[in-house]
Amino acid sequence: MSRFFSEKYGSLVPYTPGEQPKDQKYVKLNTNESPFPPSLKARRLAKAEADKLKLYSDPECRDLTAAAAEYLGIPKDRIIFNNGSDETLNFAFMAFCDKDHPAVFPDITYGFYPVFAELNGVPYETVPLREDFTVNVDDFLNVGKTVLLANPNAPTGIALPLSEIERIVASNPDNVVVIDEAYVDFGGESAIPLTEKYDNLLVIQTFSKSRSLAGARLGFGVGCPALIRDLNTVRYSTNPYNVNRMTMAAGVGALADQEYFEKNCKTVMKTRAWTVNELKKLGFTVLDSCANFIFTSDPDYPGAELYRDLKENGILVRHFTAPRLDPYNRITIGSRDEMKILIDTIKKLKEERK
Ligand code: PMP
Repeated sequence: MSRFFSEKYGSLVPYTPGEQPKDQKYVKLNTNESPFPPSLKARRLAKAEADKLKLYSDPECRDLTAAAAEYLGIPKDRIIFNNGSDETLNFAFMAFCDKDHPAVFPDITYGFYPVFAELNGVPYETVPLREDFTVNVDDFLNVGKTVLLANPNAPTGIALPLSEIERIVASNPDNVVVIDEAYVDFGGESAIPLTEKYDNLLVIQTFSKSRSLAGARLGFGVGCPALIRDLNTVRYSTNPYNVNRMTMAAGVGALADQEYFEKNCKTVMKTRAWTVNELKKLGFTVLDSCANFIFTSDPDYPGAELYRDLKENGILVRHFTAPRLDPYNRITIGSRDEMKILIDTIKKLKEERK
């Protein structure tokens, strides 16, 4: 820390992103990226936009917002685009949390929530997940705080049904409920339709996973027009050109290629079912995942050791050291070939440990 660093950030512990190593080529199953390239339409439109990079991007994101409104069947003033859903989340903390509206979220969830809370000086409370890693919905009823829930949750992959999300939203009419649907396209139920009924619901989605655009950084929020206006107040006070031209064009292309999107989501779900089955045959416990990753442990193979051994064998997965998470690894669903390499490697490693 320099002697100039503001005291208000003195104790800030930044989010730790998954490794992006350059030392060798890994089978990379650690950051929930898509195994498929972006759609051809997305790539073509993004490339064409490169010629116009001397000009600022459209701060109103008009083309992309119109395409999304049509795709989702909702009015344009209910949508805001941002530089990844991380930015939408940060803007939500800035806009809807303060000392009178502290944040509440599960103790096991996306690791960025406490970081955004700290960054913005927002008091927060965490609620323990049940022993089986499910959310106890009753813990989030009438809480009088800004609620943040990832649905499906991370790193568990477990999803709550829409009816349970609605109970939480309905019981907290005077607080914003943020539902982070980064992984919803892999088997979850989106709460976007509920945003027409509840003015306190903000749903956040991303193009990073199901639309193969993690490197483009594109996320969006859906809510009632007043919530979206508040987020825009924060956005225009931070960085109105937060979505760059090439990303905006890629987003339009991705939305125009619905068939490709659906095919890829189906393939990931099929590969997930295959991988879960293979891991179970090998004695692993696998939580019920509605995401493009699984959370898995083996009573005979400590999580940190499996992580290390897989890395030595050229496979990267994500290991978290928090006490309840330590036995587990979070493994992204890659291509069928990548998952075959994973399973064959685990078989070999387990054989060697005998
Ligand atoms: N929410 C959750 C639950 C996530 O796991 C991630 C991915 N790390 C994000 C949001 C952020 O995604 P994006 O790439 O859109 O910023």
